Amino acid sequence: MSTVTPTSKSSQTPQFASHIARIRKEFFSRDSRRWPIFADPALADIIHFRGSHLPPDDRLAAYPNGMTEHEELLQDQTIPEVGRPLSEVNRRLVFVGALSKCWEDPASVENVVTTPCDAAIQGAAIGILANPNLVYSEYAGMAEELERVVVRQIANLVGYDPNVATGVFTQGGTFCNLYGYLFGIRKAMPQSLHLGLEYGQDYRMINSQGGHYSNTTNLSLLGVNISKKTIRIKLTQASNIDLKDLEDQLTACFRLGCIVPTIMLTMGTTDTFAVDQVKPVRELADRLAKKFSIAQPHIHVDSAVGWPLIFFLDYDFDKNPLHILPQTLEGLRKNVDRFRELKYADSFTVDFQKWGYVPYTSSLVMVKDRASMQALEHDPENFSYFEKDVQGQTHLQSTIECSRGAAGLFGAYAALNSLGKQGYQVLIAHGLQNADYLRRRLEKTRGAIVVAPENCGPSVGFRVYDPARIADPAAELAIEKQSTGTDDGRKRLAENTAYHRRVFVERGKVGLYTNWIQYVTHSDYDEQGQWVPIPGEKAVFMNPHTQQTHIDQFLARIHG
Ligand SMILES: *Cc1c(COP(=O)(O)O)cnc(C)c1O
Repeated sequence: MSTVTPTSKSSQTPQFASHIARIRKEFFSRDSRRWPIFADPALADIIHFRGSHLPPDDRLAAYPNGMTEHEELLQDQTIPEVGRPLSEVNRRLVFVGALSKCWEDPASVENVVTTPCDAAIQGAAIGILANPNLVYSEYAGMAEELERVVVRQIANLVGYDPNVATGVFTQGGTFCNLYGYLFGIRKAMPQSLHLGLEYGQDYRMINSQGGHYSNTTNLSLLGVNISKKTIRIKLTQASNIDLKDLEDQLTACFRLGCIVPTIMLTMGTTDTFAVDQVKPVRELADRLAKKFSIAQPHIHVDSAVGWPLIFFLDYDFDKNPLHILPQTLEGLRKNVDRFRELKYADSFTVDFQKWGYVPYTSSLVMVKDRASMQALEHDPENFSYFEKDVQGQTHLQSTIECSRGAAGLFGAYAALNSLGKQGYQVLIAHGLQNADYLRRRLEKTRGAIVVAPENCGPSVGFRVYDPARIADPAAELAIEKQSTGTDDGRKRLAENTAYHRRVFVERGKVGLYTNWIQYVTHSDYDEQGQWVPIPGEKAVFMNPHTQQTHIDQFLARIHG
């Protein structure tokens, strides 16, 4: 139980409130006086309707002629012989734009998704207008330099040497992680370029049981035998990779001459914001590789969600110039200390499209040493479209994709350089303070228990029990975790989950649009190392518009 501090009644200090108010006004108001692009009539109509913040189920009925528009959309199946008037085409697009998920609604906290900032929308629009293709210098022109700028900026921020580091904007965090695996494979098993993975060299891929599903789907895509050639390392109670298990598994592999091309870590898991340590993994991998004279694993960090914490690497936590609440500051400091270790990764994933407030898609895989990128190069004769002497200057032969759009790059540049480090610090701290506020209030709410409260991230995962039956939710969760091996234990878990699920559905969407997840935490490992997922509810606080009042409204209805 947390003690009641003078600040526990409020989600922020007055000084901080003025910072976030300024950021909201300057960067999230879709104000056409500040950003003239929003004065375009179609955009203005969309912004106007979305500003109503109606609950998701009421939006269609509230849209002028919405039912008819919807019906027409469902019937639409042929391209007109002769083009329709612009007004008609726009009417349809405005309808769809207006009724797409409203991330700028203060209640939108469903997942690691954000509303993009005004600057990034304007920046991305410039990228769309110019339409460079990052695949190749000649098709990119100056945009290629902009990509290098953002890569250098992020390299400097994280502590990579910008002269040695490189990076590419790619199709989402999933692809960034795909690159992460591929770097390791091509460096440790160069023959795989032509012979695939099963040419005789024994290998195992390593990731963690807490990893995002892309950590697994990518392996399948690469043709890795997931059940026999992938080791998913156990988790600690806080959902971090278990370093002891990792050491055991690595040792077992290396002793048999089995290569581990890539170790995939996660800094900021999607649901519980567990942040793996990198430095001890780096040291462990180096020590064991040397001991067994075997190729060093490539360490990729999936920091798709967590990366923006590097904006705080040089924050003065003692002076706390932004007046972040003490309790939030403490958790932030702990996480930021972990992120100091990101620079020990060989590559990492940056999703600007999540906590970076940039429109989709905008993801960057950062690479510590460009030699990793060169290890992906295919034979030049494959690239007959392109002039030989220009090929070597770009990542052309190394990228997974061919065409690479630049809207995400332009958006990222705009956001990074308009908000600056401080703007990001304010946005991130705002989310973390909201998350802490909900955690603090849930701790005092009958029947509620927060999962992994020590992770102090933007995600709050929790379970809700029937207070009439369960007096001590913490004890109940502990029992659930220990007893999934028995019929009684499974029944008890199912009954509790049914209560939570029922109040979740019955209360509807009030205050916060939380969501239901099948895996908010997991049972303890049994003797065979097996475990089962435990379902629960989740809210993720990245939305600059969400305020304490929304959280209070939600809590007032938590038991339906
Ligand atoms: C979202 C997410 C991904 C996948 O990123 P996309 O951009 O959605 O492809 C990977 N890892 C983590 C931890 C994520 O949260």
